[in-house]
Amino acid sequence: MDDFRKQIEKEPFTSVATVARQTGTQIYVIGGFVRDLLLGRLSKDVDFVVAGSGIAFAKALADFLGKETTARYFKNFGTAMIRFKGWELEFVGARKESYRKNSRKPIVEDGTLEDDQRRRDFTINALSISLNEKDFGQLYDPFDGVKDLEKKIIRTPLDPDITFSDDPLRMMRAIRFATQLEFTIEEETFAAIKRNKNRISIVSQERVIDELNRIILAESPGRGFKLLDESGLLKQIFPAFTELKGVEVISGKGHKDNFYHTLEVLDNVARVSDDLWLRWAALLHDIAKPVTKRFDPKAGWTFHGHEFIGAKMVPRIFKKLKLPGNEKMRYVQKLVLLHLRPIVLAQEIVTDSAVRRLLFDAGDDVDDLMILSTADITSKNEAKVKRYLKNFELVRQKLREVEEKDRIRNWQPPVTGEIIMETFGMKPSRKVGDIKTTIREAILDGKIHNEFAEAFDYMLKTGESIGLRVVSRKHFPQK
Ligand code: ATP
Ligand code: MG
Repeated sequence: MDDFRKQIEKEPFTSVATVARQTGTQIYVIGGFVRDLLLGRLSKDVDFVVAGSGIAFAKALADFLGKETTARYFKNFGTAMIRFKGWELEFVGARKESYRKNSRKPIVEDGTLEDDQRRRDFTINALSISLNEKDFGQLYDPFDGVKDLEKKIIRTPLDPDITFSDDPLRMMRAIRFATQLEFTIEEETFAAIKRNKNRISIVSQERVIDELNRIILAESPGRGFKLLDESGLLKQIFPAFTELKGVEVISGKGHKDNFYHTLEVLDNVARVSDDLWLRWAALLHDIAKPVTKRFDPKAGWTFHGHEFIGAKMVPRIFKKLKLPGNEKMRYVQKLVLLHLRPIVLAQEIVTDSAVRRLLFDAGDDVDDLMILSTADITSKNEAKVKRYLKNFELVRQKLREVEEKDRIRNWQPPVTGEIIMETFGMKPSRKVGDIKTTIREAILDGKIHNEFAEAFDYMLKTGESIGLRVVSRKHFPQK
């Protein structure tokens, strides 16, 4: 535990300590950096609290450090940020905060180090280390944060009802830290989240989604979602997702609980990929199961078309959650739409043309799609899972073979609309598109090869069969 002192006997802390001595400023390292240091993780983001002005201190430090630094000052917030050799150092004057009912923006006054520690969200985030000459390296731990680190507990320093009501974002942060650090939220603290869950409505959606994304990016995000659900926060921030919960039984037949299934899929994906959007695809892959659920006396429970309806729901969900509406959204939409395709393939005899179609539809995202579909196999029946995984290996192999042979990924059919129009003297029209589609289908079905001369010939035949005449030989292949 005392190893942490070695870290602050190096740069950038030695320079900070020198400038503190020269300017007669009291300064402490505080927050996440100290927490992570005690956990044996070295982060390069450091928060400092200064008795006095954070900006004035940062200016003196920037002068002292010279060329290799960039400094930014935020007068409105009274904070400053210095970048130095890969470090991000943030300075703020010690403050005391008081809150009003309808805003998470506090009234701020100058305060002491203790005041500043009291305004922190959790005991493990309130730890500070002195960089002052008289007590250099001394750990200040007014709320037993070290004990909580040892016990792996998230707990608020003050009455949790006040802490959470003051700034409800802290409820999301509690669950985020519990998920990232694999800690438990202390009972009283968790009970207070349950009581204050409605207060999350005063927090901006951007802040909420930022914390949610951090939960999704954790090593085992599923646990975070269970905590969000148990606390009641999930229903507040993402009600469509809680619709997945529950099992209905008719005539003794139940279906799987799609909420827990989805979280298993998410954790499965998280084991092999850090991509936020692939993880979102995992979260949303079955989102339309509740609305497509039917009971058929013969077939049992069905969710016909949930992949299509789900893909349609994605833009609305992204908009509501204030996730980006750009290519990230379209990527998630595509994976939701296609998520069953590899599974269907794995159940059938894998034909080249089915594989070609999958490659054509998924393009460069085919590898991610395979990750998602593999993660989707969560049956409790081990033999079944094994069989599926084995078939998936076959599908993967077939994907490689067909791609090598036919290069379908991100492929554009060899005969363009312009060529069709010029050859038959046509204006842009539906008919041109139809001819293009016919050629593409012929290639995907393996009737003709993925190559210009054959495709052109097929175009001529298709055109003639619907009464078109050749008016230009410009594009005829050289024989
Ligand atoms: P990380 O950066 O690893 O996500 P962190 O603990 O550094 O974790 P930050 O959001 O960077 O988290 O905040 C730095 C510190 O500021 C925290 O450790 C905590 O002491 C304090 N803090 C941040 N947000 C809040 C808040 N909403 N309420 C109270 N204290 C907060
Ligand atoms: Mg931080």
